[in-house]
Amino acid sequence: MDHVDVLILGAGLSGVGAACHLVAEHPGTSFAILEARDSMGGTWDLFRYPGVRSDSDMFTLGYSFQPWVEAKAIADGPAILEYIRSTAHRHGIDERITYRRRALSASWSSTEARWTVDVVHTDDGTHEQVTCGFLWGNTGYYRYDEGYRPHFPGEERFTGPIVHPQFWPEDLDWTDKRVVVIGSGATAVTLVPALAETAARVTMLQRSPTYVVARPATDALADRLRRLLPARAAHGIIRWKNVLLTQFSFQMSRRFPDFVKRGIRSGVVRALPDGYDVDTHFRPRYNPWEQRLCLVPDGDLFEAVSAGRAEIVTDTIDTFVDGGIRLASGTELAADIVVTATGLNMALLGGITLEVDGVPVVLGDTIAYKGFMLCGVPNLALTFGYTNASWTLKADLTAEYLCRLLAAMETAGMRQCIATAPDPDSPTEPFVDFSSGYVTRAADTLPRQGSTIPWRVHQNYLRDTWLLRHGPVVDGMVLSNPVRVAAPAH
Ligand SMILES: Cc1cc2nc3c(=O)[nH]c(=O)nc-3n(C[C@H](O)[C@H](O)[C@H](O)COP(=O)(O)OP(=O)(O)OC[C@H]3O[C@@H](n4cnc5c(N)ncnc54)[C@H](O)[C@@H]3O)c2cc1C
Repeated sequence: MDHVDVLILGAGLSGVGAACHLVAEHPGTSFAILEARDSMGGTWDLFRYPGVRSDSDMFTLGYSFQPWVEAKAIADGPAILEYIRSTAHRHGIDERITYRRRALSASWSSTEARWTVDVVHTDDGTHEQVTCGFLWGNTGYYRYDEGYRPHFPGEERFTGPIVHPQFWPEDLDWTDKRVVVIGSGATAVTLVPALAETAARVTMLQRSPTYVVARPATDALADRLRRLLPARAAHGIIRWKNVLLTQFSFQMSRRFPDFVKRGIRSGVVRALPDGYDVDTHFRPRYNPWEQRLCLVPDGDLFEAVSAGRAEIVTDTIDTFVDGGIRLASGTELAADIVVTATGLNMALLGGITLEVDGVPVVLGDTIAYKGFMLCGVPNLALTFGYTNASWTLKADLTAEYLCRLLAAMETAGMRQCIATAPDPDSPTEPFVDFSSGYVTRAADTLPRQGSTIPWRVHQNYLRDTWLLRHGPVVDGMVLSNPVRVAAPAH
């Protein structure tokens, strides 16, 4: 593997999907997949906390080409991992993955039209250099080696374990224990009902609320269609149905936030006992879909709260004490275990450093092209899925587009493609239009995007499908061949 046409970094949901697309849509390309860990699956292998699951449906989080055939539409982590593994196996991708290979840096040479990637073997620390014509980051969006973990006053005094969900200890026993989960995001609302099954009591301690919406874990229409139609046809129809529903919900939230707020609130009121203080614990300060909505399958969080197995406290931490946490209100929460579901630290391209012809690329200074390339950085793609819909919808579109681009380059006999920058006077926008903590913390390190096509994507599957699947391939892009500098005559 000294040189390949395409080098894929990462063997998670996106990396495996990318390789499947390449094999099917641009066959004959030589490629390899480097994975830093010792197994595939990325997120769905890393996160092992109790109850870990998707919060979007698997007909859209699954690949377009590989039907989701399990019963649950909102699936458990292990089922998603198995889906990724079996897809990789079925498409012969598993044999193309080299594990324990972390890419550290990549350097582009315009005279050779190739990237040289410095790769460390994580088992013995040795380095190797791999070259490729196209580098394709499928490295997700967060750091694997650390989660976001603020320091809390007095935490050294707490005598029990403090656990981050990204590094869930295999031997942690919470049976009959009092657990406090700090956080209000998807991880917290997943953990709380799962822990509450055996814990003495679980308290979700949040500084401010999140929108929480209950949905059935199974999809009745999907079940019916799957009985009537071949798996592929059923998968396609249900995928489109869910795309349109999610998009409708997102657009309604953006256009009529007060109406949507009222709808979400009345769902919560119905799910909780009479008199529950819904406005303190379930009324966020932002509008729906300014941050990701938290979806709870079959209302499991509300059920745990209604049954008295879990409670939600909205307050701020004053200090940890020996046996728990004292809040700003003066209340003390007794705890045997504290879980800090405080989030992720974002990182694009798996934290690798880039340079083009010896000049370092500062990601925060770049402008994205169609949401997956960087202006001025040749032959580099990065897969970044949707934040307001399932990640894979965009990952699939990106992969399809890249296959079209590779074909266009081949037809034109060109080895280098470079996205040109938009007019410097035109306004730019954030690459990720979300107010979630993990996005705002990383804002300076993320590329920006332009305000017009082809320098922006719309976070809208229908429009992006048009742009990436049917739109022109090389608009705003220059294809060329390396110009070899003649050796000096002697
Ligand atoms: C707990 C949790 C739940 C989620 N639920 C949903 C959901 O319901 N719906 C949804 O749409 N999204 C969800 N997401 C987002 C989720 O990450 C994506 O859906 C999807 O799994 C991302 O896949 P990926 O392959 O792009 O990235 P990842 O799953 O992060 O995989 C990236 C892979 O790249 C490897 N890698 C990283 N850097 C390097 C490097 N330098 N060299 C080599 N290899 C490298 C990593 O080891 C990893 O295997 C969730 C995320 C989390 C954390």
